[in-house]
Amino acid sequence: MNECIMCKGNLVDRYTNFVADVDNCIIIVKGVPSQVCSQCGEVSYSHEVALQLEKIVNKLKNAMTEIAFVHYNDVAA
Ligand SMILES: [Zn+2]
Repeated sequence: MNECIMCKGNLVDRYTNFVADVDNCIIIVKGVPSQVCSQCGEVSYSHEVALQLEKIVNKLKNAMTEIAFVHYNDVAA
């Protein structure tokens, strides 16, 4: 059982939206598999998901759009 790094509360699997503010662009990734603390609401990602998010952000920040909306399942490779 995973526990929250902030408060040691229980983590529950949920899909959340990840928002990255990079340079002049805001990237919003919807439907990210994540773990949310049932006590304090802290969101954490597995190692694999964190790597995917990093890749997605690196790819999209070159797209030259001000706001990019993507769905995790559409862009995760
Ligand atoms: Zn917590």
